[in-house]
Amino acid sequence: MRPAPLPRILIIYTGGTFGMNVSPSRSGARLSVPRLSPQSLARDFRKQVPELAQIANCEVSVLMNRDSAHLGPPEWCKIADRIRSTWKNYRGVVILHGTDTLAYTASALSFLLRPCLKPVVLTGAQRPLSALRNDARRNLVSAVEIASAGPRPLANQVSVFFDDELLQGNRVHKRSATDYHAFESPHIEALALVGTEIRYRSAKPFPRSSHAPVLIPQFNPKVALIHVTPGFPAKAYSAHLLEHLEGIVLNVFPSGTAPTHDPEFVKFLRTARRRKLPVIVVTEGGSNADPNTYEAGRALLDEGCIWAGDMTTECCFVKASLLLGQPHAQRDFEKLWKIRFAGEAG
Ligand code: ASP
Repeated sequence: MRPAPLPRILIIYTGGTFGMNVSPSRSGARLSVPRLSPQSLARDFRKQVPELAQIANCEVSVLMNRDSAHLGPPEWCKIADRIRSTWKNYRGVVILHGTDTLAYTASALSFLLRPCLKPVVLTGAQRPLSALRNDARRNLVSAVEIASAGPRPLANQVSVFFDDELLQGNRVHKRSATDYHAFESPHIEALALVGTEIRYRSAKPFPRSSHAPVLIPQFNPKVALIHVTPGFPAKAYSAHLLEHLEGIVLNVFPSGTAPTHDPEFVKFLRTARRRKLPVIVVTEGGSNADPNTYEAGRALLDEGCIWAGDMTTECCFVKASLLLGQPHAQRDFEKLWKIRFAGEAG
């Protein structure tokens, strides 16, 4: 009997440390973006990761080749388009991506690829494939293995695989620029752990809302992510920034509090409200704090701010930009915001 054909997997390359060249420099290694073609990348994979050929029939597409610091909404839409146009041909998709903005791209894809009925796994590396003792090879092998296991409830979503953990894509946060354990999902368990075997968590996947509206792939470029600080320069923001914005994601202190004692800060919130700008309040990494606990948090809600719950800052920014890119967004914003489109918050 002939062996069953290997599953077809699409590997989309977007850049990042994974494929960068390393050259020594006095201050340590220096990484640079090389010239790449699908052929040269496929050749590198055959040479450096020969075991891929035992797992899947991998097609390699070099969609772009950039440091992920140079990716944004147009690239998120391009990646989603590439997947949408051909994903019926593949059992699953692996996206190679730089780690710096991977959490944003994963969040964006989780909204753009609904309903996601196949595994879409983002991965990358802290050390390039060409370097000794790299994590690129093992991240790629496991990501391809997970994607090629094909549709299964917990894998049918946009996920992130890094250092032996499969995480829900829109709940991740980059935790380290140097540890191999680069990502965490602070408020939700890993979907699967990879040891000698791939062990999926037994929990149910997030509920898929069938009545959630279809979102057009359009991100509002007038959304700003602003951190509060002690001594927040509210006056400068009110005078120079608010008139150019259509939405604000406000990163507040860990218990959901902000300098609400400062009349200029309150004025800033009121000016935003008068201009009909939604102000969404989130904490770094997403927190399960209750903003009602402290007066300095309750005041934010009293001023009409919207609490993002345990959503990560990255996902919050992406969701706000996407919702505010929809027609009639400002009118319907609060209603739309409450919808859990892709399990983005608990
Ligand atoms: N600056 C790189 C990037 O995000 C870092 C990485 O890939 O780890 O593309």
